[in-house]
Amino acid sequence: RQPIGILSFQGDFAAHAEALRRAGATPRFVRHMADLTDLAGLILPGGESTTMLRFLQAEPWFAAIREFAAAGRPLLGTCAGAILLARVVTQPAQPSLGLVDMTVRRNGYGRQVDSFTATLTIPRLGPDPLELVFIRAPIIESVGPSVEVLATWGDHPVWVRQGQIFAATFHPEMTDDARIHQFVFGLNRP
Ligand code: GLN
Repeated sequence: RQPIGILSFQGDFAAHAEALRRAGATPRFVRHMADLTDLAGLILPGGESTTMLRFLQAEPWFAAIREFAAAGRPLLGTCAGAILLARVVTQPAQPSLGLVDMTVRRNGYGRQVDSFTATLTIPRLGPDPLELVFIRAPIIESVGPSVEVLATWGDHPVWVRQGQIFAATFHPEMTDDARIHQFVFGLNRP
């Protein structure tokens, strides 16, 4: 089976590698554009989106990732990675890939509750509830008509998809539950 890549400039790429192994996949750390070759999918991890942007803008990464997506391969952006996938980013505004038609507000939950967990049943993932870990998470303010909302917490979507491109504002790699990774990348339970 082809490996699944994790953009590994900064952030919690190591935790995603563990999550992929739990989901039954082989991870590959992606630090050069050539690392995108022959991947079954790609993860944009959590961390600091501004720091990741600095790496992504030093070379034609935007074109390479858009091409990767256009080839129909699945992508998963979590937290900072979701910010990178959005069409519009606010608070403050910054460039993004525009692969998911949504507007996200950085650090949207504010300082007082900047990190928290929630428990949610997500119908697509079966009856067992999922623990959601939010760390200075963005808020998805709005989504376009081509975006499907897979999970909502409070007033806002927290897991969405546009075709085979998925964005989560929480950190599915930080629990032992591998269902998000399995769902996005079509992996069977080990
Ligand atoms: N606050 C970060 C950002 O705006 C995202 C936080 C995270 O990925 N855990 O980039």
